[in-house]
Amino acid sequence: MPAGMKRPQRRLPVQRVKQAATYDVAEMAKLLGTHRNTVRRWLKDGLQPLDDVRPIVVHGSELKAFLTKRRKARRNACAPDEFFCFRCRAPRRAAAGMVDVRHRTATVAALTGLCATCGTPMHRTVRRTALPALAESYDLQTLAPERLNGCTAPSLNGDLKGE
Ligand SMILES: [Zn+2]
Repeated sequence: MPAGMKRPQRRLPVQRVKQAATYDVAEMAKLLGTHRNTVRRWLKDGLQPLDDVRPIVVHGSELKAFLTKRRKARRNACAPDEFFCFRCRAPRRAAAGMVDVRHRTATVAALTGLCATCGTPMHRTVRRTALPALAESYDLQTLAPERLNGCTAPSLNGDLKGE
């Protein structure tokens, strides 16, 4: 998938799954309006079929639990240009398109931005190879490497300079 292209996340109608029923791959695909290959991917991703039943059959309660858990994990997944804000408890973009970059190692950079919604400092570590793509979304400010001698830690108390 090309960078920047986001497939709209269609919500699966998980409520259609009956806890007490069992479903084979075709039935799950039909019930949830998705492709059989998607169902097969879930099976690879940890959806547990019933033992010793061929073709594969999944219990409704297992299917429901799997999809609910997966939806939660998705909600917290950050896009490449998002940070996870611990105050908002959600992925957020950095305010004013500004992100500070510190080069930690030859391959890894540490990013800091302020939550566009609540102003809380957010941190994220990325591979340095991801920086060119980020530079398209943000004005990246490269900071000097952190010094250990008496350098003050970055303020975490929301002590922001006037916007
Ligand atoms: Zn926030």
